[in-house]
Amino acid sequence: MECFTGLEVSPRKVDYLKFLLKKDETVRTTDISSELNVDPSTTTKTLGDLASHGYVDHVPYRGVRLTEKGKEYAQFLIHRHNILSLLLTHYGLSAEESCHEVSRFEAYVSKDAIEKICASMGHPTVSVCGKIPHGSCKMGEHS
Ligand SMILES: [Zn+2]
Ligand SMILES: [Zn+2]
Repeated sequence: MECFTGLEVSPRKVDYLKFLLKKDETVRTTDISSELNVDPSTTTKTLGDLASHGYVDHVPYRGVRLTEKGKEYAQFLIHRHNILSLLLTHYGLSAEESCHEVSRFEAYVSKDAIEKICASMGHPTVSVCGKIPHGSCKMGEHS
């Protein structure tokens, strides 16, 4: 994948991509609407925008799915969320509190910062929010 900063996608779109990665299949627009609690016309518009940037593909009559680029980006989103959640639990927050706080600001933390934090934590593999994928920083200093 081409280089990315981690700041390409708005907080709302972060939710879309993470949801699509979690489903790991073609997802109907109506399922996305109900899961993310947004009206169908907004969902359609947001998905169109994600498609135009190459993160998702429309599958006629079935919905949308992540492209290779979308998958790789979504892996990074999970990496970022899980590293930040783990970080906050080191400073007195419960797992639930960390997850909630991180969800409010994660979209504004760059990939570069995440890689540095990840490295300083010794590349942990498990967070309070699940496994930590390291694939997204493979162009960085760690394998
Ligand atoms: Zn979480
Ligand atoms: Zn790492």
